[in-house]
Amino acid sequence: MLSKPAAAVLKIINQKIEELWEEEVSFLQKLGRYPSTLGKEATVQHYIADYLANDLGLRTETFIPDPKRLSKLPGYSPAEWSYAGRPVVVGTWQSTGPKIGKSLILQGHVDVVSPEPVSLWNYDPWGAVIEGDKMFGRGIQDMKSGIAAMIFALKAVKESGVILGADVLVQTVIEEECTGNGALAALDKGYTADGALIPEPFGLNGLTSQVGVIWMRVKVKGAGAHVERASQAVNAIEKAYHLIGALSEYRKLINKRPKHQDFAHIEHPLNVNIGMIHSGDWPSNVPSLCTFEVRIGFYPGQHPDDIKAEVTEWLFDAAKEDDWLKEVPPEITFYGFHAEGVSLDRDQPLFHTLARAHHAVTEKPLHSISTTATTDIRFYNLYYGIPATCYGPVGANMHGADEWVDLNSVKTVTKTYAVFLLEWCGIHTLPS
Ligand SMILES: [Zn+2]
Repeated sequence: MLSKPAAAVLKIINQKIEELWEEEVSFLQKLGRYPSTLGKEATVQHYIADYLANDLGLRTETFIPDPKRLSKLPGYSPAEWSYAGRPVVVGTWQSTGPKIGKSLILQGHVDVVSPEPVSLWNYDPWGAVIEGDKMFGRGIQDMKSGIAAMIFALKAVKESGVILGADVLVQTVIEEECTGNGALAALDKGYTADGALIPEPFGLNGLTSQVGVIWMRVKVKGAGAHVERASQAVNAIEKAYHLIGALSEYRKLINKRPKHQDFAHIEHPLNVNIGMIHSGDWPSNVPSLCTFEVRIGFYPGQHPDDIKAEVTEWLFDAAKEDDWLKEVPPEITFYGFHAEGVSLDRDQPLFHTLARAHHAVTEKPLHSISTTATTDIRFYNLYYGIPATCYGPVGANMHGADEWVDLNSVKTVTKTYAVFLLEWCGIHTLPS
């Protein structure tokens, strides 16, 4: 059951969301047309910052994460690239009067993964094309639709004349897809609250659990030569095979171990993915160097350093089985994700409020899910004592070709977030 003031204002807010719907859809299209892959987030961030400042009237700040400072913090993931010109955006809607509810952060990431190979798409990845109830594009599902929903939820509440009983921060960050350092930077900067919601597209479910993730780079040396003399040469690609095979065995091993209870229902919770491989430049040359990069999942409660140690040992043991690799062992380095897993208690106010809001909009109970990926909620829950979860729209083909979001679900998320704001932050002043 909703609180009385929230129930009283619900109809007005829903009407406002309907009224603003066309605008919300074009806002989402606008976001989707910025190709905001790693390093190219600035233009979409400036667009959002302007929107928050001028359209919503929020006190808006942009700042550049400082990796030197962040590197001393728990949860920091080592980045090999510059942060120059890559802002994080924070808009604050300050409540007037005494605080009567709990403050809230609404956070989304603007960075998206590459749409390549684009030839596999039936739609322009940066076109934000609408067909029926679906909008297609890279990052439309993950997670520009969520960003549109959270911003328009706040906008609808504000434009309805409601004054909330606590502050709301709207944050759009960078690097969710590789480090999470954008979210970490905002928390470190002092942008904290009594709770946080991230509209990652988990199909209108609440997120209670996520795995940990690390990235690893393995450099394998061979001894290059022309193929004519290949009997004396050592092919780095072939040597890399051996280690890639060992990683398949490692994947089998970690999935055979007893599962974390939150993942007991998932057949293969821990993925070890060879995501990149670079070697060679000529069919008739024997490649002398092969580098491949790997993403490794692990359970909440396991420390990234322990996983790094375990997989390093595993690969060195595998190298010892090979005459060449035992003399010339691979070089193993870790960069990017150094992300711990998270397991949340479902029985806490954040989920109770979310369940009420979800039910008020959909008339259905809220289901919770565990994801075999990571999200930015880890920083809030693990290092800043801020309860945080994800709840976002329905879609498909995230990180693949023809990514899409169901626009009806975007509207549902907008409405659910609006109700959540009323219930969580409290209502200071009702519309006159
Ligand atoms: Zn995402």
